[in-house]
Amino acid sequence: MTETPTFVSHLECGETGKHYPADQLHGLSDTGKPLLVRYDLDALAGAVSKDAVAARVPEFWRYREFLPVRRAENIVRLGEVMTPIIPLTKIAARLGATEILVKDEGRLPTGSFKARGLALAVSMAKELGVTRMAMPTNGNAGAALAAYCSRAGIETYVFCPDDTPDVNVREIALQGANTYLVNGLIDQCGAIVGGGKEQMNWFDTSTLKEPYRIEGKKTMGLELAEQLGWEVPDIIFYPTGGGTGLIGMWKAFDELGKIGWIGDKRPRMVAVQASGCAPIVRAYEAGATHAERWEDAHTMAAGIRVPAAVGDFLILQGVRESGGFACAVDDEDIQAAQEEVAKEEGFLLCPEGAATYAAYKQELASGRVEPGERALLFNCATGLKYPMPAAGVRLDITKEVDYAAL
Ligand SMILES: *Cc1c(COP(=O)(O)O)cnc(C)c1O
Repeated sequence: MTETPTFVSHLECGETGKHYPADQLHGLSDTGKPLLVRYDLDALAGAVSKDAVAARVPEFWRYREFLPVRRAENIVRLGEVMTPIIPLTKIAARLGATEILVKDEGRLPTGSFKARGLALAVSMAKELGVTRMAMPTNGNAGAALAAYCSRAGIETYVFCPDDTPDVNVREIALQGANTYLVNGLIDQCGAIVGGGKEQMNWFDTSTLKEPYRIEGKKTMGLELAEQLGWEVPDIIFYPTGGGTGLIGMWKAFDELGKIGWIGDKRPRMVAVQASGCAPIVRAYEAGATHAERWEDAHTMAAGIRVPAAVGDFLILQGVRESGGFACAVDDEDIQAAQEEVAKEEGFLLCPEGAATYAAYKQELASGRVEPGERALLFNCATGLKYPMPAAGVRLDITKEVDYAAL
């Protein structure tokens, strides 16, 4: 098989900028911050064109030159389709908005956008000789880790808060992970992973504690730019837990801008959180660089129930540099938003995806979003993986159906 050249030059501490060599196994930087992958962008731009990308298979590996995997044989694939962008036309018309688009990440393997990050993390782990990986998860990341690791022949240990929806826990276990339920939150599960590193000799795959999940999530930015004709939308609403996707997309736009594939325009990046767990919103409003841990975190949107994020400063930086903002929505509004989009547009969002629509509406009303802005929301997982309200009226076949009463 012919090798596509790759262009990683080095890794860099997201806070201090200190360089670290590529092609070695890394966790956090010396100062405990996430590492960002850097590329020789001139060489990259000389090696690939928009036309060349357009002619490739419609999967996110089409952005191969922007990704760190050196050898094609290490790429772990489960069918990483380009996810469709679906306009909410009826809702936009009703709200008097120009365009509301939803990128539907529920179509990816394991039903969530965690597949992007974990496909990269696991492919790189394979390339660097890792044989055992561990992570804390609220569900979707663990499922993607389990699936990609089983595919790659890597052993996995996954730790979930004990109130993680059953369907997620079972999915993780069924896809081959050693699965544990912990009576604590995700950061406390993370402490178990960190604590066991020496004895268990596993690689810590916690959000942003390894460098490659961001690169996987970066493909959302590359992909949506390509799908919109190498244009970016005016504003992006991102359901923010660990923030990998927001950081990754911001990095994508930066790289695309530097090689001239997009112009100077950048979307305003909006970090959406739930009122019951909004550390980034609180830090944004306080003008702080870092976020304090959120105590007593609770929300129905489990994917964004993240009380403390190691990449907090990178999320806040992206939000501020882009002229965006951070905002929180109540669980009742998330639920109402999910129902509204499902009933009016036939589109079943996951709660975290519904949070982005709830935030859009809230901020359209507040005036922080203009109706003329082309808005892109993220549906980060399939709504089918979540508990749904009870429904259905019983009919007794031993009696005559009373059609008039239906
Ligand atoms: C992980 C997850 C999020 C949060 O994504 P980050 O990039 O970690 O902020 C949102 N929604 C769902 C469904 C998730 O699984």
